[in-house]
Amino acid sequence: MLITNHVVAGAVIGAVAPGPASAFALGIASHAVMDSLPHWGHDDYDVFIKVAVVDGLVGLATLATLARAAAPRRRAAVVAGMLGACLPDADKPSTLFFDRSPFPAWVDDLHKRIQNEAEERMPYEALGGLVGAFVVRAWLRR
Ligand SMILES: [Zn+2]
Repeated sequence: MLITNHVVAGAVIGAVAPGPASAFALGIASHAVMDSLPHWGHDDYDVFIKVAVVDGLVGLATLATLARAAAPRRRAAVVAGMLGACLPDADKPSTLFFDRSPFPAWVDDLHKRIQNEAEERMPYEALGGLVGAFVVRAWLRR
């Protein structure tokens, strides 16, 4: 699942969660649910990493934009929800930059096993993230 979509889901969770701690925990749970839904993926690492780097930068910009859009009284929970939703994918940049995952092997194995990926799903997933980001941004600013 694109990290941008995890960011968008985490923002929604943070906006409705009781507080930052629950938003963070629910964000992590949302990651597992979303990764088990049909989404884009690619077996060729060279293709995957090019998309992942762009998605990481777009996701970071989306996180900052949605944090800024959140009402000040909800901002901590919104940011916590987004960070929790992204945390399980910390293995990707960590492996890219440090050649190892920060998680125990059983966590990475579980994370790989729940994936429901196919190469042809990129248009739907990218469109979902883009539309979702704008809709959630408008909703947070209400
Ligand atoms: Zn993941």
